[in-house]
Amino acid sequence: MSFRPPKGTDDIGAPESNLWRDVLGEWERWADLFGYPLVATPIFEATELFERGVGSDTEVVTKQMYTFTDRGGRSLTLRPEGTAGVVRAFLDSGAKGPWKGSYSGPMFRHERPQAGRRRQFWQVGVEYLDVEGPAADAEVVELGYRFLTAVEIPGLDVVLNSLGDAVCRPGYVETLRGYLDAKREVLCDDSLSIVDVNPLRVLDCRVCAPVLADAPSMKDHLCESCADHYSQVKKSLEALEVPFVEDARLVRGLDYYTRTAFEYVATDLEAAQNAVGGGGRYDGLAESIGGRPAPGVGFALGVDRIVLASSREPAGRIDVYLVSESGPYEALIAASALRRDGLRVELDTEGRKVDTQFRAASRLGARAVVVLPAAGDDVDVRIGDERSGMPLGSVAKWLEGRL
Ligand code: AMP
Repeated sequence: MSFRPPKGTDDIGAPESNLWRDVLGEWERWADLFGYPLVATPIFEATELFERGVGSDTEVVTKQMYTFTDRGGRSLTLRPEGTAGVVRAFLDSGAKGPWKGSYSGPMFRHERPQAGRRRQFWQVGVEYLDVEGPAADAEVVELGYRFLTAVEIPGLDVVLNSLGDAVCRPGYVETLRGYLDAKREVLCDDSLSIVDVNPLRVLDCRVCAPVLADAPSMKDHLCESCADHYSQVKKSLEALEVPFVEDARLVRGLDYYTRTAFEYVATDLEAAQNAVGGGGRYDGLAESIGGRPAPGVGFALGVDRIVLASSREPAGRIDVYLVSESGPYEALIAASALRRDGLRVELDTEGRKVDTQFRAASRLGARAVVVLPAAGDDVDVRIGDERSGMPLGSVAKWLEGRL
């Protein structure tokens, strides 16, 4: 009998995982530069948290959650997204903001699997809480843009919209409802199934887009303070030199967004998987999960798709391959010394022939080779065309600046 990973899940190993590591390392760097410390929340939470936080009529909640009853009879769900858990953790901590948190980890949704759409997938994201001003929105959008640019997403677009708030959105939704009612005959089945519960979501449907070209736009219905917030966000992004395009149809799949909504799109990828991430402002979320009012803004980025889209060459993983003419015991001791000097070292623990060891060094892409001689004290260090004999203790210093 042999087992395969469950449908829609993957084993990710080298060499593919090398790019994953680079991308996740780059993520930590940018989250740090923008001042977002790590917040690690549980991978499963009370089911009700997601029903309330994500929205009980959203597709994620109605069709995609991995929900189970534990031995104590509680209903738990593997997190389908990160925001609800992070906002819960923030409220639970009793912290007073402005408060920042970043996360990185697997999420779970029972979706129909295809390239870039998995049942277990990895998201990185940030949440910025107890903040209302448009500068907060712009900072968050900028962070995602800088990170995605650093990991070389070709054809990256930031798509921006404002969804209004509790003051102006209900009126718009009514107008939209009237418009969509008259269009029922031309809507696809998916849109028909949500048009009554959540008409906004119909705007997101790619199939229906051509017949809804003249739909009323939220932009024309924003109240004064939402319109002002939106124009400040745009002004800030221009000043930060973060290019964006506006799209009045961008509504996002989750229910909690207010005002700013945005998506990062890798336009060079196929439409089905080109959304590498998105986010927005969610001023009502904290209250909808039973907390005090805490306006906030954040985003989530899909690492599986970022890795698919990235044109970055993974960085080499080995600085030195230690070729030993005297056997694995000596190699082990020497490798340990070089590693403690900060070099990434691979060696042959199996006592294979010297030729085989050289071949392994080149197969693994080692930057330098250090040959440990059968006799004598000095090692022979080779990098490119350069060769030099020296004591083992001098290797790290000599390689500094050459690697
Ligand atoms: P969402 O939480 O739905 O706003 O998704 C944010 C980002 O996570 C998307 O833009 C995708 O890059 C990624 N994502 C969402 N669902 C999946 C999935 N099933 N498989 C892979 N990536 C996903």
